[in-house]
Amino acid sequence: MFEGLSTRLSGILDRLKGRGALSEADVQEAMREVRRALLEADVALEVVRSFTDKVRDRAVGAEVLKSVTPGQMVVKIVHDTLVDTLGTDGVAIDLVAVPPVPIMMVGLQGSGKTTTTAKIAKRLFEKQKKKVLMASLDTRRPAAMEQLASLGKQIGVDTLPIVTGQSPVQIARRAIEAGRLGGYDVVMLDTAGRTHVDEAMMMEVAEVERAAKPHETLLVVDSLTGQDAVNVARSFTGRVNVTGVVLTRVDGDGRGGAALSMRAVTGKPIKLLGTGEKMDGLEDFHPSRVANRILGMGDIVSLVEKAAESIDAEQGMAIARKMQQGKFDLDDLGQQLDQMLKIGGMQGLMGMLPGMKQAKQQLASANMDDKVIKRQRAVIQAMTRWERRNPKEIDGKRRRRIAKGSGTSPEEVNKLLKMHRGMADMMKSMGGAQGKRGPMAGLANMFGL
Ligand code: GDP
Repeated sequence: MFEGLSTRLSGILDRLKGRGALSEADVQEAMREVRRALLEADVALEVVRSFTDKVRDRAVGAEVLKSVTPGQMVVKIVHDTLVDTLGTDGVAIDLVAVPPVPIMMVGLQGSGKTTTTAKIAKRLFEKQKKKVLMASLDTRRPAAMEQLASLGKQIGVDTLPIVTGQSPVQIARRAIEAGRLGGYDVVMLDTAGRTHVDEAMMMEVAEVERAAKPHETLLVVDSLTGQDAVNVARSFTGRVNVTGVVLTRVDGDGRGGAALSMRAVTGKPIKLLGTGEKMDGLEDFHPSRVANRILGMGDIVSLVEKAAESIDAEQGMAIARKMQQGKFDLDDLGQQLDQMLKIGGMQGLMGMLPGMKQAKQQLASANMDDKVIKRQRAVIQAMTRWERRNPKEIDGKRRRRIAKGSGTSPEEVNKLLKMHRGMADMMKSMGGAQGKRGPMAGLANMFGL
């Protein structure tokens, strides 16, 4: 998949990337070509429009970083916009529920639903050590039931014994009951498809949904059918609560339109890709990897990312200078926390501050993850401007108000103020004689450890 699109886009961007100067007209012209390439790849018109608009806005507004060309910037912007369009990264199948967790599979006949059901079951069983029961609800096609049973045997996963004369809802209930009695973690319900969207199929899946209350409902669509896949997805999402999409046959020569339109049109994340007929032909969906596959310009993307990091490093140094002069207030700390979130947490920051490199490892155990940083950020945001400038004046009453305003506790407010004091003191002492305690003690001090 994506081959044609990939060739076209890299051709357009190749011409741009070496250029030292780009006018708005150059960007416009390139965007016209990108638009044509996307339409030819069968991407939905509304998605093409918003894609090119976004790239144009970002490109025109972007500051070009030192050490990269404007053309390289555009490559990076196209890449990031592709990632945004493709959706959220790594949305895994959610199994957090009381077992047996019901997963309902829906989609048209021939989309690869039964094959995908077995592929997922195999993965849950082999990689996540889950005990899985599969059941076919396709009462219209006995062959479909036998196909699932035979796949089950092949991969070593149980299937619900076939009982003729039951309705899909009855089979679903029996499967869940068997799942409960048999101590299964997951029950996969492979519903019946039709060759095209019709009312009987929709009524059936809606009934099964009501009876089985699936924790996940995965829609299987054939990526080779392009825009049709997206239309099918739209019909299903209007009738049942689809929680994720599986795109099959991405090993074929589809043009990629389905993958690119799916998220924007349906609002549902692509969770998995079917990459072959064999039982291990299943991959997690990673927008950034797919964007790299489409653009094939990973080197430029990482070059621009590095350049952006060095800008952050310059800002980091400016703050460090302020710290050394004892002028580091809570606004600066807030800015610093924002940067940390952007560049991958505390580890990134410490690499930038002088004398701190050795302490990086210790940080890994200091539990400074993004969640903590976000709460600290909230505490600072709940302060008045005056308080941010005069942290020493924040008394008990103010602390309680700030805690309330930020949804934290007075202890957390105290901790943050202590951390700020620690940072300011440490940097002052590093500015003068290094002090006997060394950077490690400074660090511990900084986090109130
Ligand atoms: P269902 O009617 O939706 O249950 O479809 P099936 O699971 O029976 O699949 C129909 C055909 O598509 C079978 O021959 C599968 O082997 C094939 N198939 C399913 N998924 C993929 C895939 O990701 N890649 C390829 N190449 N073939 C697939």
